[in-house]
Amino acid sequence: MGADRGSEANELSAGGREDRGGLAARWPLVQQLRRRDPAALGRVARSARSAALRPRTAEPVHVVRSVCPYCAVGCGQRVYVRDGEITQIEGDPDSPVSRGRLCPKGAATKSLVTGPLREYRVKYRRPYGARWEELSLDEAMDMIADRIIATRAETWEDADEDGRTLRRSLGVANLGGATLDNEENYCIKKLMTSLGFVQVENQARI
Ligand code: SF4
Repeated sequence: MGADRGSEANELSAGGREDRGGLAARWPLVQQLRRRDPAALGRVARSARSAALRPRTAEPVHVVRSVCPYCAVGCGQRVYVRDGEITQIEGDPDSPVSRGRLCPKGAATKSLVTGPLREYRVKYRRPYGARWEELSLDEAMDMIADRIIATRAETWEDADEDGRTLRRSLGVANLGGATLDNEENYCIKKLMTSLGFVQVENQARI
């Protein structure tokens, strides 16, 4: 394939030099006939530059088959790795679910692990605060646990006014974001339900 592309690029370059001879030779119809591409959907539509371009996945790298982490559609992915670093993530044509396709979120999976804006520290903005503070993970986890326990105790409903069993709290709700993956959503739903919190929602297809 590389040789084909190289010869095509050479041909295009040679064609470019030849075409300088006359305007008629550059006319698209003439190009289509001379280069045996009557519909102009292949060779004629390419410039010397585009014919010489190489796909990002062309370099010899290790390919790991995976599944998109974002939603329950479960599209297949091919993860390209070089020297322990992910270089690209593409749809897997062998997947019977997605046949090589990824939605925009799945196609951007590489940035989930390599994005420069990814946060690695807990950020906390206290009530009425105007700036973010950094907390240790232990401190943040303790704060969350204390507040959930206190809110659950204050808002617990054993039964309604007619005596029907409720055993729930409406004091806590969970709203998930698009970057939560299937496993995280499973754990969140399990935790919230076991605590009696019934307001659980997520944007993704779970
Ligand atoms: S987020 Fe998109 S690419 Fe990923 S599994 Fe769902 S539909 Fe497929």
